[in-house]
Amino acid sequence: MNALLAVLLAGSVSAIGWLALAYVLPARRLRAALRRVAEGDWEAPVFVRGHGQLGGAVADLASLGERLRDAHRQLGDSSFDLQAILGSLVEGVLIVDAGQRIRLTNESLLKMFDLAAPPLGRTLMETFRNHDLQGTVRAALDEEGPQNRQLAIDARQSDGYARKHFAVTAAALRPPDDERPRGVIAIFHDISELKALEAVRRDFVANVSHELRTPVAIIHGYLETLIDGALADRPMAEKSLQVMWKNNQRLMLLIEDLLSLSRLEGKQAAALQIEAVELRACLERVVERLEPAITEKGAVVSLALPSGLPVIEADPHRLDQVFFNLIENALKYGEAERREIVVGAAMQGVELVEVTVKDNGPGIPKVDLPHVFERFYRVKKDRSRTVGGTGLGLSIVKHVVLAHGGQVGVESQPGRGAMFWLRLPVEQKG
Ligand code: ADP
Repeated sequence: MNALLAVLLAGSVSAIGWLALAYVLPARRLRAALRRVAEGDWEAPVFVRGHGQLGGAVADLASLGERLRDAHRQLGDSSFDLQAILGSLVEGVLIVDAGQRIRLTNESLLKMFDLAAPPLGRTLMETFRNHDLQGTVRAALDEEGPQNRQLAIDARQSDGYARKHFAVTAAALRPPDDERPRGVIAIFHDISELKALEAVRRDFVANVSHELRTPVAIIHGYLETLIDGALADRPMAEKSLQVMWKNNQRLMLLIEDLLSLSRLEGKQAAALQIEAVELRACLERVVERLEPAITEKGAVVSLALPSGLPVIEADPHRLDQVFFNLIENALKYGEAERREIVVGAAMQGVELVEVTVKDNGPGIPKVDLPHVFERFYRVKKDRSRTVGGTGLGLSIVKHVVLAHGGQVGVESQPGRGAMFWLRLPVEQKG
């Protein structure tokens, strides 16, 4: 009997032990694991084995833990963080609430408007003082659909305000369970440079049309006179032909200069035919070509070139064009009782050579100095036209020199002549 009791007792002890191993301990561990997850410890592994229902619960918890872990990793990864994403955008991002108060801005927006800190809580109007921007956001809020507008906004700069142009897209923010928009997200794209380029292009086309129209109109007028009977009047006919020939020359010059510019612009270095060019020979050749003009003006052109000037890698045809334009300008504009032009050259270190063209004419007023290399810029419009200028000569000079990887500039004190300088690399890179 005792033995039987002992066996039963031993059996129930081992049954309790089995129960404890199979259910109680895993249930306790499961609870502990659940508590860790509840406390936010997603990464904690679940080492629990269970049987039956408990086994199912353990497996569910393990897969839930896995999914929570993934989601948490994604959220916690700083590179996927919302602020980090907004911070990496070049576009400015702005979120306002339904009352048009600013709720969120990114770094780019702060930079665009030179704002020291996010203007959170302030209204759009307080911050940007721009009715068009306010109207754009209002339209998006009023459910007129996403708004795409180009806005001119005065943006703060270190030295005052400057008008900038933005392409702004504004869209209503509507939570999935709510019909009414809670606010608006506006994306700002700075298109100021694009606008400036557009303006330059517009000016250029206007200038070209104007420059072409004048000689064409003159030729047209004289042709009409000839057709109307002036052909029989020999002196009149001769005069007409001469004027037409002169204006035709002007047209050809203009077209040639325009073609030169368009070949140089954009393509830059690709437009050059690089060869070994002997600088001294190149300068002497240009002065020789200009001999008739030098004689006509009674000018003295001296070449102050040191011995040992280098052979440089350049496009000889373009270089001729540069020196021709500079020396011809000195002859055209360097009016003086005794016109003196000095062409100098000197090495600047071992990599650069500098060429200067200096005259003793009236020079260039200070206000015009920064602009003389611009297309069609003339200090004295009429003077330039009467001496046959197209207003493109210095622009070509600048483009050729830049295409060679060089620099160009001018110095002048009114009344004391002008000195144009350019620096060219002796060797072309690449
Ligand atoms: P243009 O075809 O009219 O000569 P450029 O581009 O060569 O055009 O020159 C632009 C303007 O710069 C000229 O119209 C002239 O007013 C001024 N300029 C150029 N060179 C000189 C110079 N050596 N002295 C004074 N003014 C100059």
